[in-house]
Amino acid sequence: MTSRTDTVRLINGRIYRSAWDENPVDTIVVSDGRVIGYDAQSGSPAVERTIDLKGASVIPGLTDAHIHLFAIAHARLQVPVTPRDAADIPTVLALLGKRARNVQPGKWVYAAGLDENGLSERRLPTRAEIDDAVPDHPVLIRRFCGHVAVVNSAALAALGLPDGVGDPVGGSYGRDASGRLDGSALEIAAEHIFRAVPPLERAELVAALRSVIADSAAMGLIAGVEAAVGFTTGFDDEAAVWNELRRGTALPMRLGFMNQLDPAEAAQRGLRPSQDADWQSMTLKYFADGIVGARTSAVSQDFFDTPSRGMFMRDPDELQRVIAQAHADGWQVAVHCTGDRGIECIIEAYEKAQAAHPRVDARHRVEHYFVPPAGGLARMKALGALVVTQPSFLTRMRRSIAGAFGPRADSCYPARSVIDAGVTYIASSDAPTGSWSPWDGIADAVLRAADGGAAIGPGEAVSVREAIHSYTVGGAIAMKQENWRGTLMPGMAADLIVLDRDPFTAECLSLRQTRVLLTMVRGEVVHDDLQHAAAALETAR
Ligand SMILES: [Zn+2]
Repeated sequence: MTSRTDTVRLINGRIYRSAWDENPVDTIVVSDGRVIGYDAQSGSPAVERTIDLKGASVIPGLTDAHIHLFAIAHARLQVPVTPRDAADIPTVLALLGKRARNVQPGKWVYAAGLDENGLSERRLPTRAEIDDAVPDHPVLIRRFCGHVAVVNSAALAALGLPDGVGDPVGGSYGRDASGRLDGSALEIAAEHIFRAVPPLERAELVAALRSVIADSAAMGLIAGVEAAVGFTTGFDDEAAVWNELRRGTALPMRLGFMNQLDPAEAAQRGLRPSQDADWQSMTLKYFADGIVGARTSAVSQDFFDTPSRGMFMRDPDELQRVIAQAHADGWQVAVHCTGDRGIECIIEAYEKAQAAHPRVDARHRVEHYFVPPAGGLARMKALGALVVTQPSFLTRMRRSIAGAFGPRADSCYPARSVIDAGVTYIASSDAPTGSWSPWDGIADAVLRAADGGAAIGPGEAVSVREAIHSYTVGGAIAMKQENWRGTLMPGMAADLIVLDRDPFTAECLSLRQTRVLLTMVRGEVVHDDLQHAAAALETAR
């Protein structure tokens, strides 16, 4: 292992200094966490370590500008019920029953990753079905999107939710034909349940989070933005876990945080926008509307398969006022918007905030930008706002997209038109909702899910270079760090990854299988598979 102040020389590689580099160099020298040159003499004679890349390719390390590291760690401590774990409802119920047999009666059983689109029944399990399988424990299943909860009767009793309970603003409870609760809860109703249940052990969460971050670095991520603190179990609970993690040993990734707080709540906690290279907290996050999968996106035309135009998660006027205050307080604002009505409301909020309180480079973000509103991109460009999108949704949500939009599906999830409009296009994962692997994101940005059926919006495809640019410079732009990282030009941060293939010449489809042989952050090797791959010869001096 090297330390962050060492001088390290990587030789015999194909080293791309940026996504646009047509003439890769074979040597790069880093020192004190920065790139200092490209020849064997750079930094001599103080080179502490030489790494022989044996022809492997190097690119700048990747940033995931929208990922839920906490949710991934949280799910690791629960019963996994993704479509990979269970193909039908009886299997989901069997997994829950198996866990319950090892948990004291009355204690909660938590499960995560449910996606009814991947079950043969194509529906959620019901309260009655879960009651049959697990009668003596409260059960909470979290849908993979984090916007839907499914519970059993013991859970409803523990939560004090009777059949006659009314729906909260911005959410609803599922009911059967007789009006009895069926166990499902959407949006704010689900959020209330997630907040009300007993939390997992903090020490276990800290350990799980540390391993999730290490796994991310091994996939090539050198930075990530947690989107958002508070989304899974509530702000104070999650912030306590993150703060404990920060007190431990250094992490192999640079982190940014979106805080799911109103500006007044942030002020009460003494939070201000802060820029730290490894631990940045400059963003407040809100939800304008719901999701396509649950047909809760706020759209201007009925969904193709559902006579509904979705919903706002909170009153649009109130949300605009909150955004104006966050803007005036100096925060970057990020808003989850999927439907065109939701997106339009947020663009307008940014315009009003900027008019009332002009700020240079506020760089607000629109997360998802699923159904583009007419004329939206020109307004985004005028604002200098960012489109933060998740290409792997095209593969993961193929069925939802076709059902929700039918022939209009090709206009979903724009990318090409975002870049052509001069708006910064930033690809990310939104894992665990999207695929955690940035290599799936890069492949889907280019292929538009063509390997799983017909391409969705083939006219919105971008090139491999554009996709990698968005995961390197684009991710740095999202975090306002593009002045010092995102490329491997002299003086830039020594954040790089060594790959088992050349992403610019490999078959695009094969990029999904990319293996990251080595990850370097701040000039320090944080993941090293080169020796296992028997691909390098190292000479320590
Ligand atoms: Zn998200």
